[in-house]
Amino acid sequence: MSDESGTRESIDWHNLPQGDELFRFSFEDGRVRGVSLRLESTWQAAIENHDYPPAVGALLGEAVAGAVLMVANLKFDGRLILQFAGRGPISLLVVQVTSDRRFRCMAKWDDERLAGAGESLEALLGRGQLVLTIEPDEGARYQSLVPIEGESLAEAIEGYFQQSEQLPTRLVLAADKQITAGMLVQQMPETGGIVPASGPSARGFEHVGKLVDTLVGEKGQAEMRAVSAPELLHRLFHQDALRIHDVARVTFSCGCSREGVGQMLTGLGRDELEATLASEETPPGLIEIRCDFCGSLYRFDRVDVEQLLTNDSVEPPESTRH
Ligand SMILES: [Zn+2]
Repeated sequence: MSDESGTRESIDWHNLPQGDELFRFSFEDGRVRGVSLRLESTWQAAIENHDYPPAVGALLGEAVAGAVLMVANLKFDGRLILQFAGRGPISLLVVQVTSDRRFRCMAKWDDERLAGAGESLEALLGRGQLVLTIEPDEGARYQSLVPIEGESLAEAIEGYFQQSEQLPTRLVLAADKQITAGMLVQQMPETGGIVPASGPSARGFEHVGKLVDTLVGEKGQAEMRAVSAPELLHRLFHQDALRIHDVARVTFSCGCSREGVGQMLTGLGRDELEATLASEETPPGLIEIRCDFCGSLYRFDRVDVEQLLTNDSVEPPESTRH
């Protein structure tokens, strides 16, 4: 949707899409910007092959919403990887999102430790780091590490914005295993990259931030999960000159393939593959690789392995890039 002269009167709220889309919006002539999303079927598809405990599903969902909002907020072609790695019962959350909004995600956790853990962010993730990696299609890879701090995953991501981007940012996230939702608003820099601490854009951001803050906490999170993204924007900002700039679909897409797994196996070499085929820990004569992201199972028997190794000796893999 491109709406050059958009005012609040011109938004046809009931005809906006109601699921799995993200919405970019702005106020104050673009000096305050935001992105909002609520994912339902695409989020359920991303985790359907995993039996995530509710606490893992909720945090992973928030990480997905946070990562997609970050991608929507950046201008680049490539891939963003948001990772939370810590010493808690949930030791790893990984979300990969492409600039065309295809995402996949995974989590690692310890059932025993999780059963006795509290509900706070620190109890679940422990001390750890948020690692943000941006891999542009062209140009240098960028990586930023900040400690995981705050009461919520949203606060931890806000910590990244504070340290790395230095743009005033408010972020709220809410997820369970059915729905994940989030909203991000930012005060934009003016000419010369300066973010004014007073004046219309600072006042505008303060006002919008206060409305976004009404979504913090259990009641606000329940509201975010319950109502569609456009309905939530309408509820919060119906008295403000909100403009919706565009609406874009978000999809789950893993991108793993038998060919890719085969290349990875070939890289291990004959000795390792022979040892795995002979191992008693795996089904005899089979190598099974399960994708951590989508849960797909890839099976290779002796004949398949022989074929991989033979092909490899004839023509080396075109790319060694992983
Ligand atoms: Zn996969």
